[in-house]
Amino acid sequence: MDELKAHLDFFGELGVDGIRAEPLWRSRPSGAFPEALALKTGDDQTVDEGVDQEAVQDVRIYSSVSETLVGIREDLGDCTRCKLHGLGRQKIVFGVGSPDADLMFVGEAPGADEDRQGEPFVGRAGQLLTKIIETMFDLRRQDVYIANLIKCRPPGNRNPEPDEVEQCEPFLSRQIDTIRPKVIVALGKFAAQSLLRTTDPIKELRGREYPYRDGILVPTYHPAYLLRQPSAKKYVWADMKRVRAILAGG
Ligand code: URA
Repeated sequence: MDELKAHLDFFGELGVDGIRAEPLWRSRPSGAFPEALALKTGDDQTVDEGVDQEAVQDVRIYSSVSETLVGIREDLGDCTRCKLHGLGRQKIVFGVGSPDADLMFVGEAPGADEDRQGEPFVGRAGQLLTKIIETMFDLRRQDVYIANLIKCRPPGNRNPEPDEVEQCEPFLSRQIDTIRPKVIVALGKFAAQSLLRTTDPIKELRGREYPYRDGILVPTYHPAYLLRQPSAKKYVWADMKRVRAILAGG
């Protein structure tokens, strides 16, 4: 009984909020990434071998069948799981957009504007992201889903710390498993490295696509970087063209 309790506690810590009782759950394939996730390759593209796909698979967390974004938000509550709640946080920035989105963007963490408004990517970098969504995909912000690796603003916009990511990322994973987007665009070094469990530089990670949970992850430069380095826009356009091709093909 103690062993069972420890087992359930462990899954609880991972963010699993329930157990499926139906036979489907017991008979699910053991491979975390089904055949649907075979990598597509293009001319200038190599399938990344540097990222430890097994490690990415190992951290897969299944959401329960009936999970909804509203339920995940309720579970998050007025979160005090990490120290950021006591370090000047004004609002938790959960994520916005369509629960049925085929396309999802994941940034690093809320900045000052996002912390004030409770919505991701509403500052200058966010305006550029909105422009990318509208011009490259002919979509509106509300047609995609936008979130961050962590949901509270780190003080002074410092990088998120490992314990903060550890507490927060399971909620993002559950959001991803609920929305099941075809493509997840990881914006910037921090999101890409954290999601892919690698320390490879963004300039090596971008330009490729990676199987991730039930979709494909495409890393690209962060819009804030583009504001400082407009010459990098051409790489983001190339990455977004790749995303368009994946969306069109599937
Ligand atoms: N930068 C991010 O990574 N996320 C935001 O929400 C805003 C700026």
